[in-house]
Amino acid sequence: MLQKFDLSTPRENFYNITSQVREAVSASGVKDGIAVVFCPHTTAGITINENADPDVVHDMLLGLAKAYPDRPEFRHGEGNSAAHLKATAVGSSATVIIEGGRLLLGTWQSIWFCEFDPPRKRAFSVKVIGD
Ligand code: ZN
Repeated sequence: MLQKFDLSTPRENFYNITSQVREAVSASGVKDGIAVVFCPHTTAGITINENADPDVVHDMLLGLAKAYPDRPEFRHGEGNSAAHLKATAVGSSATVIIEGGRLLLGTWQSIWFCEFDPPRKRAFSVKVIGD
């Protein structure tokens, strides 16, 4: 089963999409399997990381900005090469195991849509596979 979700991203940030993924798993009726969360954009991505302390997202954004700054040598005409680099660094998808109808996430983990090129109208898909 495939489900698509839309979201607006007013600023560069990580947006918690765990509840939408749980919704997709529940709607699928799958009890044991996997959920693949996929982002079809080139300047946004998907990652799994901590949800408890909001400073973790702050620090990840800061670290990515330090690792991938804008550079005058960049040639891409749209002028958002740093966003492309960050999107590649976090990746376009995440796979989560489903056990007993529940996502097998750790206590502190959430699934994040990572926006690096705001503001945008975005989408992501969740494919649930299993019995
Ligand atoms: Zn671009």
